[in-house]
Amino acid sequence: MESDNEKIDILSLSCEEFTAQLTEMGEKGFRAAQVYEWLHIKRTQNFNEMSNIPLELRTKLSTKYCIKRLIIVKRLESAIDNTIKYLYRLSDGEHIEAVLMEYHHGNSLCISTQVGCKMGCKFCASTIAGFRRSLMPSEMLEQIYEAERDSGRRADSLVLMGIGEPLDNYDNVVKFLQLLSDKRGKNMSLRHVSLSTCGIAPKIYELAQLKLGLTLSVSLHAADNESRSGIMPVNKVYPIEDLIEVCRQYYEKTGRRISFEYAVINGVNDSLDDAKRLASLLKGMNCHINLIPVNKIKERSYKADRRSVTAFAEALTRLGMNATVRRTLGADINAACGQLRREYEI
Ligand code: SAH
Repeated sequence: MESDNEKIDILSLSCEEFTAQLTEMGEKGFRAAQVYEWLHIKRTQNFNEMSNIPLELRTKLSTKYCIKRLIIVKRLESAIDNTIKYLYRLSDGEHIEAVLMEYHHGNSLCISTQVGCKMGCKFCASTIAGFRRSLMPSEMLEQIYEAERDSGRRADSLVLMGIGEPLDNYDNVVKFLQLLSDKRGKNMSLRHVSLSTCGIAPKIYELAQLKLGLTLSVSLHAADNESRSGIMPVNKVYPIEDLIEVCRQYYEKTGRRISFEYAVINGVNDSLDDAKRLASLLKGMNCHINLIPVNKIKERSYKADRRSVTAFAEALTRLGMNATVRRTLGADINAACGQLRREYEI
């Protein structure tokens, strides 16, 4: 029998693609919707359980297709606020992270889009061990399905802010978003999805043309090229002027307000002058600034100063900007993005 990696990854197929494949195999097309329901609603992980599918077809499916699974290898639950952090093992032995958070409006799940990251942001743990590979649509969906299965909670909204750069895995991420919003599956409105990027300008432009309705979060972290290039190498390729210009185009095309992420780092980007530069850069844009006190990672010395974060937020507000400091969740299981995986692999 062939091994799973020679089989077709069925969870990455749209219902239309699977219907076409079934018809080609000489099977009835309507079976595709039945199988799709087993996979994406009932979330079965075994073709044998698909009781309304003829046994012969079930056998045929299991020789041609595989249902990719993620295994939870570590699970940390906060005693303070019900945050759950998952470390998953993929079918090839790689590891990724997801975090389930509880807000007053429901549960939000943060998922990974790649194993490791190429972008090299200096303050980020995900990038330290380098890049291994991009995730398939199925592996992004399974992070949701597995967290829901394990926690018994429903993910009401989603943020693509875990390990990896979503726009460096553009095609798979877009396909995943289509599967996620399919009425025959999880049926999540893309209005409940935020995609965070370090600023790959041409891909932001491409994404805008799709008008998916999601929220774009742009990791800005500095308002001048010198400081930004110092902490985010991607800025040397797509400098701030290009990034802001494409953000304006994104807003014009989609009508969706952009959220700018700004990790406040003591002595790097938290002065009053930095606040003024940031305000003048974003002036007149319909946007929101999300301030995040930088999370300490053990490989780097960056840290946040609580008082300067508050002062920075106040300065921005005085300058007429719409800025808030992100609430900290799961403080007792705190591990900045990518740290759980790092600890596990060392
Ligand atoms: N690659 C994407 C998404 C993953 S990172 C991006 O760059 O946006 C998700 C967010 O966490 C980004 O805003 C990133 O800059 C931020 N981040 C990473 N490490 C951090 C740290 N140590 N402290 C605070 N924010 C961090």
